[in-house]
Amino acid sequence: FHYGGLIMNKILESSGSVIDRQSTENLRNKDNQHYLHPWEDIGSFGENQRTVAVGGKGIYLYDSEGNRLIDGPGGMWCTQIGYGRKEMAEVIARQIMRTPYYSPFNLTNDVSAVLAEKLAQMTPGDLNTVFFTTGGSTAVDSALRFVSFYNNCKGRPEKKKIISRQDAYHGSTYLSASASGKTRDKNFQDTAADIISFIGSPNPFRRPVGMSEEEFRDAKVKELEDRILELGPANVAAFIAEPILASGGVVIPPAGYHKMCLDICRKYDVLYISDEVVTGFGRLGHWFASEKVFDIVPDIITCAKGMTSGYQPLGACIVSDNLIAEISGNTGKGTIFSNGYTYSGHPVACAAALKNIEIMEQEKILEHVRETEPYFLQKVKELEDIPIVGNVRGQGLMACVECLLDPDKQSSLALDYEMGGRIDKKCQAMGLIVRPIINMNVMSPPLIITREQIDEMVQILRRGIEQTMDQLV
Ligand code: PLP
Repeated sequence: FHYGGLIMNKILESSGSVIDRQSTENLRNKDNQHYLHPWEDIGSFGENQRTVAVGGKGIYLYDSEGNRLIDGPGGMWCTQIGYGRKEMAEVIARQIMRTPYYSPFNLTNDVSAVLAEKLAQMTPGDLNTVFFTTGGSTAVDSALRFVSFYNNCKGRPEKKKIISRQDAYHGSTYLSASASGKTRDKNFQDTAADIISFIGSPNPFRRPVGMSEEEFRDAKVKELEDRILELGPANVAAFIAEPILASGGVVIPPAGYHKMCLDICRKYDVLYISDEVVTGFGRLGHWFASEKVFDIVPDIITCAKGMTSGYQPLGACIVSDNLIAEISGNTGKGTIFSNGYTYSGHPVACAAALKNIEIMEQEKILEHVRETEPYFLQKVKELEDIPIVGNVRGQGLMACVECLLDPDKQSSLALDYEMGGRIDKKCQAMGLIVRPIINMNVMSPPLIITREQIDEMVQILRRGIEQTMDQLV
């Protein structure tokens, strides 16, 4: 996997990089001294030896030492069309020369208007009103603020509670982080705990011993209904859920779960927000998974990431016509939704999204995902024969390998918190990045991945897990 820097040099030369080549040590020093990364362990700030990415082509990243790495996590669930797309660079450059920016508060622009219509056509049901944001967190934040605004407009200011789920991840603004349910992420952080209420994750792998998947699903749906009743339906505004809990470890709920949750929401006049930041834009073989995969039409969809394949930061909160009509029917003019960003609907990001969608259509990437899914899942499932692998699960082109210290004692939840990190390190040394989450490693490769590349990815992962296991004994 070591290419002596040849391909990387070619990429750097053709890109006219603004940074002259610097030694890895030099770059790492700058990084360690000045760059506070997301989820940084500040207790050991400055001690990291991060891989320095300097180029990319297709599903591969190149580091500053000339190594080629398969991008197992797809950046961060987002590099759908892969790296090094000339058409993307050209469209982005052209848009910068046309209109790099203008304020969305008073004018519109051609590309954002066209993208809004395109998204309205791609979403299910009557979700036709697009509020552009700068990413997934701001999309979720906007959705939650919209729900609160909606209930205020409807003259029921007490209807404010949001029900979310343990292990959910919805973002990193104060409100979207408050709706996120990973316990460790709450350490040292305050949240809007008075508004958000958590129910359990529908993770079938963690269901009580002896309980069937259907019984487990019914219990989880009942938990939602019980919580609504406990809080009082008049106080509950919305339920927010990722179709598949992504950062929580690719948790695929039992069949029928989302539909039953939606029915409960409808029964108690609770809105359903489907957070498709990861599952949207082809990850599960469709533009959006809510309707096509899970048979639900929610009230609001949030999306980001794959919308631009990571070439530009962009997100959207897409609201149903019905909600907009209810507000305008209840209030007069001057009902201002005071929420928005300088860079809402940024024209360069919107141009990138339109081109990305066009490429995905032309190259039939959704079809490719649907065709490749069974092969990908079969290959990753084969890893279950490794003794420390407790569970492999996946859907579309996303999967999780969960290792346990003692897989026979599933109910004891014997976790090694460093296991995922150790496996990732071993894999990186062999040319593969696999994102670690506690005792898990998740994969969501660029959607253009071929069967041969899947073989290569899974073979390295197997070796990485086996080497880690050998060191345990
Ligand atoms: N929602 C989900 C389901 C996510 O997985 C993420 C990020 O991983 C977010 C929201 C936040 O998106 P962003 O990091 O673009 O703000």
